[in-house]
This record gives sequence, C-alpha cells and structure tokens, in this order.
Amino acid sequence: MAEFKLFINGEFVDAASGETFATHNPGTGEKLADVPKAGREDAVLAIEAARRAFDEGPWPKMSGKERAEKIRRIVELIGAHAAELAELEALDGGGTILKAQMADVPGAQSAFEWFARMAEERPEREDLEGSPFPASQNYLRYEPIGVCTGIIPWNFPLIMAAWKIAPAIAAGNTSVLKPASLTSLSALKLAEVIAEADLPPGVVNVLAGPGGSVGEELASNPMVDKTAFTGSTEVGRRIMQLASGTVKAVTLELGGKSANIVLDDADLDLAAGGVLFGTFFHNGQVCESGTRALVQRGIYDDFLALLVEKANSIVIGDQMDMATNLGPLVSRGQVETVERYVKLGRDEVGEPVCGGSKPDDLPEHLDREAFYRPTIFAGVDNKAKIAQEEIFGPVLCVIPFDTDAEAVAIANDSIYGLGGGVQSSNLERAEKVAAGIRTGTVWINDYHLIDPKRPFGGYKQSGIGRELGVQGYEIYRQIKHVHINPETTGRDNHFHYGVLGV
Ligand code: NAP
Ligand code: MG
Repeated sequence: MAEFKLFINGEFVDAASGETFATHNPGTGEKLADVPKAGREDAVLAIEAARRAFDEGPWPKMSGKERAEKIRRIVELIGAHAAELAELEALDGGGTILKAQMADVPGAQSAFEWFARMAEERPEREDLEGSPFPASQNYLRYEPIGVCTGIIPWNFPLIMAAWKIAPAIAAGNTSVLKPASLTSLSALKLAEVIAEADLPPGVVNVLAGPGGSVGEELASNPMVDKTAFTGSTEVGRRIMQLASGTVKAVTLELGGKSANIVLDDADLDLAAGGVLFGTFFHNGQVCESGTRALVQRGIYDDFLALLVEKANSIVIGDQMDMATNLGPLVSRGQVETVERYVKLGRDEVGEPVCGGSKPDDLPEHLDREAFYRPTIFAGVDNKAKIAQEEIFGPVLCVIPFDTDAEAVAIANDSIYGLGGGVQSSNLERAEKVAAGIRTGTVWINDYHLIDPKRPFGGYKQSGIGRELGVQGYEIYRQIKHVHINPETTGRDNHFHYGVLGV
C-alpha cells in the first residue's frame, strides 16, 4: 500500500493528532490506503505557512514570467507521473480509467498551463487616463490577494485541485487545499508532484481531513484572504457565512440541474448521443450534467425510443477495465441517495423507461451495492422533485415541450443555472434559445467540453464568480488604484484643500 502524507510548509507530515482514516476503491470495497486525518490544528499550521510564504517569501514578489516557469515545471511533472495519477484517480473515486487518462490528468495539466500563460500575459500594471484639474497621473496595479484556500468535492478531485491551486499561485498568492474525504489520494499525490517543482515552502499546502473541521477552518480563519469552494449548494451557503466573519473574497461553484434542449430539427442520433453523454458521463456525478432533457413534442416518441435503446447499451463494470463505460458511483452512500430519488420518481412520475435498479450481471469481484444502472424517467413534469433537485447520479428526466419559448421557460424554472445544451441543426435557432437560458455555459450540439481558456461558473444558486478563462485568473488578483499628484511642492494643483480652509 502506498503511503500518503499531509503537505504543509514544504514538508510531508502526519496529522498532529496522529489520526488516520481509510480510503477505498468503491468498485470492490478494497481498502487503498490510510490517510493522515488533519484537524483544525493542522489547518492552522498550513494557513500560517501560507501566510508566511505570502508576507515574507519571494513568491508574490516574483514576476509573472518567473512564476510561469515554475508552473510549467508542474505541468511537465504531472506528465511524468500521469499513469500513477490516473490510476489513483480511478481507483479512489470510481470513475473509469479511460476518463482518468483522457480527461482528469490532461485536464489538470491544461489548467496549470493556462494559468502559467495568464501569469505571463496579463498586465501587472495598467495606465489610466489622468484628470486635468487638478492634473494627475493614474494607474492600476494588479496584485495578489494573499492566502487563498480551496475546498473541493469528490467527483473530479485532480482537476478541481488544479482549478484551485493553479490560478491562485499563478497570480502570486499562496494556497491551502482540502480535497473531499472520499477522494483525497490524487490531491495528496499532486502535492508530491508539486514538491518536485521546488516552489518556496508554504506556497502550496494540501490537507486531507473532514469538512466540518479542516474545511470550516479554511473558510473562516482570519489569516485567509480568499476562499474558493466547489461542492453542494448547501455547504456553499455555509462557506459564505464562515467567510463573512472577515469579509473574505469568495468563489463558489455549486450544484446544478441543467437542461439539455432537443429541438425538432436536430439530428436525432447525434442529439441522443449528446443527451446521454450530457447526463450519464461519470454516472451523472458532474455538476453541469444535463439531467433534464427537454424534447420537442413532434420528435418525442422516436427520440425517447432511441435514448432508451442507447442507454441500455452502456457497459457497466470494473472502472479499471478500458472497455467499461461506467464504473461504480463514488460510494454506497451515493447509490443510496440515487435509490431514494428513484423511489420518489416512481411515486411522482411512474415506472422509469430504463434502469431503476442496480445491475445484476456484474463480475463477482465487484460490490454491486456501489453501482446503479442509467435510469430514465419519461413524461416528467418540471415541477416534480426529481426534476428540481440535484440527484448527482445516473438519473435523467425527459420533459416534453411544444415551442422554443416554452423550452426556455422550463429550462429557467430552476434554482440552478450552471450548464445546459441545445441540440439542433439550425444554429441560428439554437443560438436564440441559448441566449434565453439563464446559465453559465451552453453547449450547442455538444456537452461537457470545458477548456481552461473559457470561463466556467454558475448563475443563480449554482455559484458566484467564474473559474478558468481570463476571468478565473483576475478573480485571484486585487486591483490597486494609484493616484499621483505630480506637484510635490506648492499649492497650485491643490485648490481642493481649500474646502477645509487648510
Ligand atoms: P459537499 O458535501 O458540498 O462537499 C464538498 C467539499 O466541502 C468536501 O471537501 C467536504 O469535505 C467539504 N465540506 C463539507 N462540509 C463542510 C463545511 N461545513 N465547511 C467546509 N467544508 C465542508 O459536496 P460533495 O458531496 O463532495 O460533492 C457533490 C456536490 O458538489 C454536488 O452537489 C455537486 O453539484 C457539487 N459540485 C459542483 C461543481 C461545480 O463546479 N459547480 C463541481 C463538482 C461538484 P468532506 O469530504 O470531508 O465532507
Ligand atoms: Mg475512495
């Protein structure tokens, strides 16, 4: 069994309490490792290290170009450890090894690469128009914010870790990261990889431990300047409260119940692929999943038949097998949540048109309790709880509509606004529909494609602020306005002091 440690102030250490907790492969139930269980005490040590690295260390004072060089070294090192990182990610979280190789590892690399580029390219100073009367010179300085903490969920631990650490350190901040307790291995491994890049101690710190202690400390400690959280809307509300004590900057990426709208002119085969990929990728444990398929009435029956046929062909099995399309969910507990919602769906809507149970043809070595079949409820009323609440599992609601305006209204009838899709062969029509949806990202004839070059985040209760893109870099910088009155002696340019008669 591999060993994992906390990464605090450039050193790999055990928890101060000496406590550990076990982490498992959800597919087999096999124990993977005992991980040091950080508590508040360790969180404070990490925050103090990050504070010192910011206040006294060289990192914030380095030029963007110098920081970019170090961050590009991290990109190379992730590449050198790619196989191990992918394996840990798939083993610990239950996502397929294919996803880990194709999405998780390259996704983490591309985030570090993008923010290295931001550090190089974005201005550190910007001249402004001066005022004539009194004459002045004015400019902005873009400065790091300080100590930035990140708290991440279990669905994409490696990519989420990169989304929190990379923009923070690229902009000259220091970082303390807490992965989700179900999936802490890849983030702890990433800390080892980052250590090889030889950043000054305390610039990056990674702690595994409970949200209720470590997470709360990271969101509330007065030495922290900004906290970025990805996870449920419920915990997001708590993070805002905790951060309000010292008015920290907050970025929140929260839940979703996104609509994928299939217009009657869509290529049905392509659109069915788009809806199934949009919902069932990673078992629907993706915040922007298109878990409400809005289908126009004229094509409804044909489209539903196609969806069901294709959904039934998805191969469920061992996530470490390259031929598997869907592995286990992250835990038995997550399957129980899905079962609760499927029961609710049966009461609200009726029998699902496919799925609705655990698979019964799994190989012996797998834990059936951690798997669930792709499940589709048809003819769902958007007011139903299964259409309003985030399930975070492989459950799709298919909702009929008549007009484009009605589709937009149904899509917007949600407390969330994170993702969404429009499937159509008429791009002009699709863009009109896209413009009407109140959501952070819309994919036309596609789904789930996230590139660090473009901002990602939510409207409404899906969050605050944006990650990635230029916006996701600037959100890690403070803006200082410097006003210079060039008259260093004499009073000609200071008539306004006369207001006080001084
Ligand atoms: P979660 O329960 O909100 O947990 C997320 C993280 O917050 C974990 O690291 C958790 O630690 C920590 N945490 C829990 N309680 C806390 C508290 N009181 N103070 C500070 N930290 C606390 O969510 P999850 O179950 O891991 O993930 C699923 C949810 O995340 C879904 O609702 C999904 O939509 C959302 N999500 C959103 C996005 C997005 O980009 N918008 C991306 C991925 C996931 P422990 O693991 O130790 O409990
Ligand atoms: Mg695990």
